[in-house]
Amino acid sequence: MIQLYIPLNFLGVIYREIKQSLADMERLFSLLDQNREVADAPDAKALHTQGAQVRFSHVDFSYESKRQILFDVDFTIAAGTTTAVVGHSGSGKSTLSRLLYRFYEVNQGAITIDGQDLRAITQDSLRHAIGIVPQDTVLFNDTIEYNIAYGKPGSSKEDIVAAAKAASIHDFIASLPDGYATMVGERGLKLSGGEKQRVAIARTLLKNPAILIFDEATSALDSKAEQAIQAQLKEIAKHRTTMVIAHRLSTVVDAEQIIVLDHGRIVERGTHQSLLAADGLYAQMWQRQQAKVEEEVE
Ligand code: ATP
Repeated sequence: MIQLYIPLNFLGVIYREIKQSLADMERLFSLLDQNREVADAPDAKALHTQGAQVRFSHVDFSYESKRQILFDVDFTIAAGTTTAVVGHSGSGKSTLSRLLYRFYEVNQGAITIDGQDLRAITQDSLRHAIGIVPQDTVLFNDTIEYNIAYGKPGSSKEDIVAAAKAASIHDFIASLPDGYATMVGERGLKLSGGEKQRVAIARTLLKNPAILIFDEATSALDSKAEQAIQAQLKEIAKHRTTMVIAHRLSTVVDAEQIIVLDHGRIVERGTHQSLLAADGLYAQMWQRQQAKVEEEVE
């Protein structure tokens, strides 16, 4: 019993840590299929998307019974549009994306995609419909081609190259002596944070999901890298329902909707311009960030 307990417990720890970081969830699920906290309903149906409107309807949520994290969170991401979620650290932004991916079940309210409650659809079909660009992409110790193709196993070389081009990583790959056969990951070529994120974008483009979760990197980037990411986000968000978890505010300006969370409640919502005009929490956060950028430039 003890022998069994230790590895299972150990797996549990790894599971929680990776789950926390949003990194590479799909692989994790295939590895630890038995360890899901959330199970399919016996009569669960496959998700059918038509534009993929995402709706959070009066959602309450807590990880542990004593501490509520989200309070009556209610918003809609219209099909094919981008909603950015902003708020101070710990306000509950990443929790929203974990709930959309159905890592956890809501306590009250519901999350639906095109009117289908997440609790009534199969997890496989849900995860098929959602692509994630995490902050820190985990690369496998394999070729760069494998790492991109992972978005859709069995893809043709042509499709892989097209995805790499759209993610602006093709020229870099082509410049390597072994090209797409270059080994990457811990035991291969180490890629920079930006290069890794581009691989994640190429993977996602290949997967071609109806819904996209983009987890903006927390660490500051120089303004050139910042602009490149903005441009790429635009590229992958085109015609997709997108939720951007914005740890800084660099990627939110063009979003159709910005939701401001404060201690688990939506306190403001609108576009960048309307929120600046409202002169509330968003405007404060924006001004503080601008001041910081100017300080760094000086
Ligand atoms: P950041 O910008 O720092 O990433 P965030 O707004 O994304 O923060 P969340 O990660 O959603 O914040 O966390 C919201 C709250 O939930 C925090 O108080 C955090 O401590 C708590 N929390 C997150 N994950 C868990 C967990 N697995 N168990 C218990 N509490 C958790």
